[in-house]
Amino acid sequence: ITLFTGPIETLVNSTEVFQKAIAGFRRMDEVLESMPEIKDRPGATDLVVRRGAIEYRDVSFSYENREISERGHARPVIDHMNLAIAPGETIALVGPSGGGKSTTCALLPRFYDVSAGAITIDGQDVRDVTQESLRRSIGLVQQDVYLFDGTIRDNIEYGRPGATDEEIADAARKANIHEFIESLEDGYDTVVGERGGRLSGGQKQRIAIARVFLKDPAILILDEATSALDNESEEAVQDSLEHLAENRTTVIIAHRLSTIKHADEIVTVEHGQVVERGTHEELLARGGTYARYYRMQFEGVRMVGKSNATGR
Ligand code: ATP
Repeated sequence: ITLFTGPIETLVNSTEVFQKAIAGFRRMDEVLESMPEIKDRPGATDLVVRRGAIEYRDVSFSYENREISERGHARPVIDHMNLAIAPGETIALVGPSGGGKSTTCALLPRFYDVSAGAITIDGQDVRDVTQESLRRSIGLVQQDVYLFDGTIRDNIEYGRPGATDEEIADAARKANIHEFIESLEDGYDTVVGERGGRLSGGQKQRIAIARVFLKDPAILILDEATSALDNESEEAVQDSLEHLAENRTTVIIAHRLSTIKHADEIVTVEHGQVVERGTHEELLARGGTYARYYRMQFEGVRMVGKSNATGR
């Protein structure tokens, strides 16, 4: 859907977007409800990112609600996880659904606190620094992009309030969306419409990427949960994301083979633990979990009754 579609398409698109938004809000509510109050520790200082080294040291975590409602006993979602990510490295988290990839990522910006162990950034425990400084240092790009109903400029500027027009245009250039924006009658003043409903999925994603370029965080989390982009916009988005990940420590919840292959290292997460780690070639040669996963996902073994249209 482009900015110039007729009313029917726009309506259909808005409905879809609206439903997604509702789902999003429900998730967010659930997150907030299940979340013990996360507050700055008295005397918390600002995170100082020098190189962007990340370390999970013997980290365990359980969602409290789940233990009570489903089990009666706890099996941690993250179970004594150890994971060190070098400054500037791009790692791809892969593994079975429910294995703990998203949760691993959610612990880093401290959406939840670990139950045991510690997560550090450049040696600083994320629980010891101000949340404001922590979240300023981490950029998040998700599949479901929510733009607010303002201008394109406003939506990009959200990455760093107070940025100049030149800085905003520069971020848009890096995200490969500047030319498109300039081609619009109102350029950066174009109102994106409710939840960005007047833009295509790929355009919205690139605006969200421009936002993160402007924010310029040292650490990046990409939730690549496969989106329904056509090949052309997927390629453009993929290019922008690869550029965005340069010189940042990047953790990708990866679903696409292209991303997985391009990552510096692949980390297989299963039952909340790191079970394997290495390059694509190394892991294939080892013939373990990743090799099996890879064959299942990408080498034509199709599970009956499961749609593979999105490549999941
Ligand atoms: P997927 O590939 O399907 O996204 P994943 O590897 O990212 O899976 P997680 O989303 O981290 O796995 O889920 C790990 C486990 O934690 C699952 O059993 C899931 O049901 C559970 N879980 C995830 N989020 C919550 C939550 N907010 N409250 C309770 N349980 C949750």
